[in-house]
Amino acid sequence: MIDAQELARRISNINKAICNSSLKSDRNPDDVTLIAVSKYYPLELISMAIEAGVRDFGESYVKEGLEKIQTLVGHESFQCVRWHLLGHLQKNKAKKAVGVFDYIHSVDSVELAEIIDNEAQKLGKIQKVLIQPKLSDEDTKTGIDLDLIAEFTARIADMENVQLVGFMAIPPNFDNSESTRPYFQRLRTIRDEAIGRGHTSAVHLSMGMSDDYRVAIEEGATMVRVGSALFGPRQSN
Ligand SMILES: *Cc1c(COP(=O)(O)O)cnc(C)c1O
Repeated sequence: MIDAQELARRISNINKAICNSSLKSDRNPDDVTLIAVSKYYPLELISMAIEAGVRDFGESYVKEGLEKIQTLVGHESFQCVRWHLLGHLQKNKAKKAVGVFDYIHSVDSVELAEIIDNEAQKLGKIQKVLIQPKLSDEDTKTGIDLDLIAEFTARIADMENVQLVGFMAIPPNFDNSESTRPYFQRLRTIRDEAIGRGHTSAVHLSMGMSDDYRVAIEEGATMVRVGSALFGPRQSN
């Protein structure tokens, strides 16, 4: 496991790269949030990252995220941290997810959105969500079909306890980060069209991971999800 000094060095380097990529594309670096993806990494690394000033963390699994979040409640900076659920959310885990995650990035069906709305209402919470569109046929597992997005965004807009804040994508794996660029462009078009239909809060583009976050920022990413470039190789996977 890397030590605090090494982690601080990596955070600093990634923040510099975020700034440079933003400026290169005439964007404000403050419009890009670094989400440290802590799935499969131990609590010590998350604590260290909080100490080093990271304020956004992403987890892929509800159970793992919940355990970590509950353990970190006592951390002096806990209140400053926002938790993002990145992985596919099963309907029967929606209740738990709504209880702890500030953002759910992976909403991919009206049914799931309705359950989230219902659970958020019980908690008196407005749940921030992002829609995960299916950008390609390689994306076989999750994501909503592109021709359903307009209807989907309209349905979410009617839900009182769900706020649509943007869109998320996980492009297929490529050896070359440039190959992901068209996927990022497609997601941005989807976002711009949603804003054009009046969904003015749907500003976020959650896209870009360790290997391609620079390209994603050039294409408009407002949330980059970086795991291994920060924390090193995952312990189990
Ligand atoms: C694991 C994961 C990441 C981070 O991946 P790295 O390549 O380690 O940066 C980002 N987004 C999602 C949805 C993930 O599951």
